[in-house]
Parts: sequence; structure tokens; C-alpha cells
Amino acid sequence: MIPYGRQSISESDIEAVIEVLRSDFLTQGPVVPAFEEAVKTYCGVEYAVATNSATSALHLACLALGLGPGDIVWTTPITFVASANCALYCGAKVDFIDIDALSYNMSIQALKEKLETAQKSGGLPKIVIPVHLSGQPCDMAEIHALGQQYDFKIIEDASHAIGAKYQDGRIGNCQYSDITVFSFHPVKIITTGEGGMALTNNLKLAAHMSRLRSHGITRSPHEMTQIPDGPWYYQQIELGFNYRLTDIQAALGLSQMQRLDEFVARRHVIAEEYNKLFKDLLVTTPWQNPSSLSSYHLYIVRLKGKKGGYDRKDVFERLRSFGIMVNLHYIPLYRQPYFEAMGFKREDFPESEAYYREAISLPIYPGLTEAQQVEVVSRMQNLSGFQTLF
Ligand SMILES: *Cc1c(COP(=O)(O)O)cnc(C)c1O
Repeated sequence: MIPYGRQSISESDIEAVIEVLRSDFLTQGPVVPAFEEAVKTYCGVEYAVATNSATSALHLACLALGLGPGDIVWTTPITFVASANCALYCGAKVDFIDIDALSYNMSIQALKEKLETAQKSGGLPKIVIPVHLSGQPCDMAEIHALGQQYDFKIIEDASHAIGAKYQDGRIGNCQYSDITVFSFHPVKIITTGEGGMALTNNLKLAAHMSRLRSHGITRSPHEMTQIPDGPWYYQQIELGFNYRLTDIQAALGLSQMQRLDEFVARRHVIAEEYNKLFKDLLVTTPWQNPSSLSSYHLYIVRLKGKKGGYDRKDVFERLRSFGIMVNLHYIPLYRQPYFEAMGFKREDFPESEAYYREAISLPIYPGLTEAQQVEVVSRMQNLSGFQTLF
């Protein structure tokens, strides 16, 4: 079986985890801060708050930015449900911006138009959550400029994009956003089993997210309502959660950080190989922004259903029947029954609809071999009535 994504675990990753198991702390020990430090240094950002998932990090990010009932969050429909659910957890509403036909990220043009309309008729967003789909960075400078103009906050959902670059900076440096969130789920670029992180250059946001990560409890006397009763004293000053990452998980993450650049480089080699294999075929290969570096979390192609081309569903079924576990990232969120019930209409998202008809995510992960890539591509073309290359 060839999965679409898979973790790469080395002997030193295993050693690092075992070391924690033999140590004094399984959680809230020294390794979580060490992992946070490593990611901070890598990304060039001031503060990092590790969490037990990116979903938790998105939730904390929304809360720290003051999101609540009556507020609105905008995001892309071509994302995982977590990018929108974080708004709903806070009692806010969610709305979607159609995607760009080239990058498959939130369309800047559509965002501008929707902002203009919302300014006239009400309903401006408090937070916009761009998602760097497949690790291809959104045009953050443009989104940031709009944020200044229309007074909204920005959370980058960079679950796919640790190791990616936008212009000259790393994704995660928060140059154009308030908070950036990473995911360390096993299919993502680096893993902690489950895990996430929220990055920011704002000390207040960082302190607030780290307090909410642990029940809303503080041990800092300056945040308390009274002088501590004694050395045991702590205060719960708001309602928080248990969203902590363990030291066991952080050890895996810290060890994986050492191979992050290698992982991204390997993903680029795989993407270039696919690009070559698809050169003369009726397949739209991923677009690469010339001023960015994708982390290639996903390799998404689009299959045109025209005569002489591929039928996406056929290709999908065929590849799966050969054990090639292709996937679809993502079913547009407004099509999910839970969101559809909020009144979204498919006609409002023509680019997302076209994408949903044609997209397919091919296997890409550090351990994928060239022979497996050739197999994927040849199985794709080996459809009845379709001319084969090989
Ligand atoms: C994976 C993913 C998430 C959620 O990450 P978890 O760590 O599993 O909570 C959120 N957004 C996007 C775009 C993702 O791909």
C-alpha cells in the first residue's frame, strides 16, 4: 500500500522519546520549552505555545484575539474543518472566501470584494484565517494590508507549512499576521503523534494562550487578584482547557526539527519528479509562487474531465484499487452537512466547486521512492481508452 502521506521516524527520534520515558517528567518538564525554542529559532518569531493539536492552537488563538459571540471569522472553504470550527467554539460565526484558481488558496480578489460589500452592509470579520494549502504560502502581504484597512486580525493556519518560506522569511515568523499555527499530526511535515503550536510576536497573546492552555491558571503574582497565600498558591482567573503537549511528544518534535529541512528538500525532489512524469499529460500540476517556497505537504493535481483526459472519480477508484491511497484535500466546507445547514450556497464558490470536481492528492512523503512515483503515474494513465506513456 502507498499512503498519501506518512511520517518518517528515525532511530534518533525513538531514542529521544525513550530518554524522556526514563526521565523525571513525562509532561510539563524541560522538553516542551526546548521544542518551543527550536521552532521559534527556526521560524524567527518571539513566542511559541505548544499544544496537543493544531485544532487546540487555533481555538486558543481565536480566544486570545478576543473572538466571541457576535463576531465573524472568514476562512477558505478548501481546508480541514478545524480552520472553521475554531470560530464556532468561541460562539462566533464563520463565512468563506472562494479560492484562487492558481494557488487554491483564499482568493485575494474575492477577499477584497467581500470586504467592500461587508463594509457597506455590515458583517466585517474580526479575524481572517488564511490557510497555506499544501504548504504553498498565501499572499500574506496583501492580506495584511487589507487587515490594516478593514481592521481585522489574522491567524495563519500553517498546519501544512512548517518549513515553507514566504518572500524571504519563514512561515511562522508572523511578519504579516498576529498568530501562526502549525500541526504535528503524523501526515504533516514533522510530527509529535498529535500536537500543534501557536506562534506570535506579541507577548500578551503568548501569555494569554499559554494560560488558556492550562485551565486559565496563573502562577505569576502580577496576574493575581491578591498577594499569594504562600508558595503553593495559584489562581484560576479565567476558563481555560487542558491543551498541553507532553514531554514525550515534544521529544519527538524536537528530534524531528533536526530533519525538517531535509524533509522539505525531499518533498521538493518528489514534486519535481511528478512534474516531469506529468509533463505531456492532461494534468494540471501544482503552481509554484516564484517568490515563495512551498513545503509540499501535498501534491495536488487537477484532472480535466474533457475528452481524451481523465475522469477524476475513475482515476481515484482505480488508484485505490491498486493500493495507492490517493486523497482529496478537501471537500469544500460549505458542502459539509453541518455547515450547509448554516445556509451556504454552492453557487457562491465557483472556483472551489471546480476544484472539488478535479482535484486529487497524490502520495508525497519523505519515504516515497521514485519507483513508487512511476507506479502512481502509470496507474493513473493506464485507463481503458487512454493512451499510455510507458
Ligand atoms: C491537520 C490540519 C488541522 C488540524 O490539525 P490537528 O493537529 O490534527 O488538530 C487544521 N488545519 C489544517 C489546514 C490541517 O491540515
